[in-house]
Amino acid sequence: MNDIKEMYRLSGVSSDVYEFGLKIEEELAERFKNIDVTAEYNQMKVIGAMQKNKVAENHFNTSTGYGYNDDGRDTLELVYADIFHTEAALVRPQITCGTHALYTALASVLRPGDELLSPAGGPYDTLEEVIGIRQSKGSLAEYGISYRQVDLLSDGGFDYDKIREAVNGRTKMVTIQRSKGYASRPTFSVEDIGRLIAFVKSIKPDVVCMVDNCYGEFVDIIEPSDVGADMVVGSLIKNPGGGLAPCGGYIAGRKDLIELAAYRLLSPGLGKEVGASLGVNRSFYQGLFLAPMVTAGALKGAVFAANIFERLGYKVIPDGNAKRHDIIQAVELKNPKALEAFCLGIQNAAPVDSFLTPLPWDMPGYESQVIMAAGAFISGSSIELSADGPLREPYTVFFQGGLTWYHAKLGILKALQALIDAGEIDINCLK
Ligand SMILES: *Cc1c(COP(=O)(O)O)cnc(C)c1O
Repeated sequence: MNDIKEMYRLSGVSSDVYEFGLKIEEELAERFKNIDVTAEYNQMKVIGAMQKNKVAENHFNTSTGYGYNDDGRDTLELVYADIFHTEAALVRPQITCGTHALYTALASVLRPGDELLSPAGGPYDTLEEVIGIRQSKGSLAEYGISYRQVDLLSDGGFDYDKIREAVNGRTKMVTIQRSKGYASRPTFSVEDIGRLIAFVKSIKPDVVCMVDNCYGEFVDIIEPSDVGADMVVGSLIKNPGGGLAPCGGYIAGRKDLIELAAYRLLSPGLGKEVGASLGVNRSFYQGLFLAPMVTAGALKGAVFAANIFERLGYKVIPDGNAKRHDIIQAVELKNPKALEAFCLGIQNAAPVDSFLTPLPWDMPGYESQVIMAAGAFISGSSIELSADGPLREPYTVFFQGGLTWYHAKLGILKALQALIDAGEIDINCLK
């Protein structure tokens, strides 16, 4: 054990910080065991889907040009559909990120004159420009698609009365974001989402319910598509890519809707038949295979961070005991200096670019300046250990990822150490 402590010391984690972390980790043994059980279940689900679809070595071959007859690509989509228990899926490197996947899903279903309803508060920052909540060229608003939003109640619950009033003859689609993203609301459980979908469909049965599943995949043993979502959407540089997918996104759902999404992404008339996989098939499969384990490591990191910083008196969302529905942990750091110190600690713990100092910048799609710490093998990958936060009150850092639990642990201890070194936390608080 002392040898490990020495390894942490060599990494810049003092013995006080290490001991404090160890104490918290020991208290979390039961929680960690539960996370492992979920990972085991999901590992079986993934292997089962791969076996059922007879994944074979030739599926790792590549295609070029139009990408006709790419068996690896098509089989992977069947595997995703089985994992999400949907009729079909679109899983492509041509989907560039989560925002693009969500845009594709929205724009494929909505037509001029239709209305999009967000029944559970505002969407993720980058979707504001997609929808046109913040004016933007090419937004859905420019195409005559209107948007309506019902905010959450002050206790974080759904405002069913207002939702009933908001659904109207033009409501074509409903968007529900599972994870809190950069907001300070709770992340919804899959069951919560199921109740919301059932409610909306009881008012208007043919409304298309889409769930932004970013950061939620494999956290639970069920997914939003198991509780009535017509489309679930996410990024492959988050949970389901397992850290190996070099890019990409997925949309899983009803067959007719996936067809629409493929026409929108690629071209009307062409759809799923085209789209060269350019050599990514193997990474997509292998990343998916590892994803349940990787997600478990990230979840342990999130729970560990919550308990460390809660013990030190910070407001953490979700709190240390809360059941988890995504891999994001928010910590309200109260001032910009603490936010920068936290991010420096995460950066210094990275296997890549550990020597850099993260600074706030104007990131496209985001309203405030953002600071981001990441030293990732895949650029921008947030299933890898990363931390970011907008430079605005209450200076909340959003912490996520970690391809292994041990790396997440190192990052959190380094962040704590950096806060101590910056004079933001008194070392006596660790006693
Ligand atoms: C990350 C994220 C997105 C956007 O994904 P990008 O890959 O950053 O475009 C959308 N919604 C949620 C909840 C996210 O976490």
